[in-house]
Amino acid sequence: MNKTNIYAKFYLRQTLFTFQEASCYNGIILRIWYGMGMDSMGKRKDYINWDEYFMGIALLSALRSKDPNTRVGACIVNGRNKIMSVGYNGLPLGCSDDEFPWSREGDEYDTKYPYVCHAELNAILNHAGGPLDGCKIYVPLFPCNECAKAIIQSGIREIIYISDKYADTVGVKASKRMLDAAGVKYTRLKGTHSALTLSFEEKSI
Ligand SMILES: [Zn+2]
Repeated sequence: MNKTNIYAKFYLRQTLFTFQEASCYNGIILRIWYGMGMDSMGKRKDYINWDEYFMGIALLSALRSKDPNTRVGACIVNGRNKIMSVGYNGLPLGCSDDEFPWSREGDEYDTKYPYVCHAELNAILNHAGGPLDGCKIYVPLFPCNECAKAIIQSGIREIIYISDKYADTVGVKASKRMLDAAGVKYTRLKGTHSALTLSFEEKSI
């Protein structure tokens, strides 16, 4: 089989071929095709985009939360798409999940509200080093006014969120008032996937 025939064979099939099969013909041709982009070689089209990837990490982080009602995660990313930090809503270090209240009602002292550290603040405080100036924060729920203060002060310049269901509350209105004044952008997540599934089963690896 000559080289022309090999090209025609690979192009028309438009699919991945095994190294074993290709090496039977010509290893040099195989390497040329690998360096050309390879749309015709079966590259996946349904991979998640950067925003979905980082929001996915925020959502995964939220699963660590012990809060029975609200689970929020956050992921901070720099301008080179490097993850700087992650966090989720939880109690401060040393405050036991088993001893502090998780209730939403009753005497405020015995509710979760005075104690829980929100995901955004935890992500900012957890970050191990390097400037957060110019970073983005991915958080499923629009940040409250307290977290907005921390976001602004840390130098984060953009918020990517999914839900703004508390938009009519004073907290979120105040949050937007401060974010607008400080020039911090906020954008609803744009993606092509409505859901993703993770499996820990060996057979799925
Ligand atoms: Zn908050």
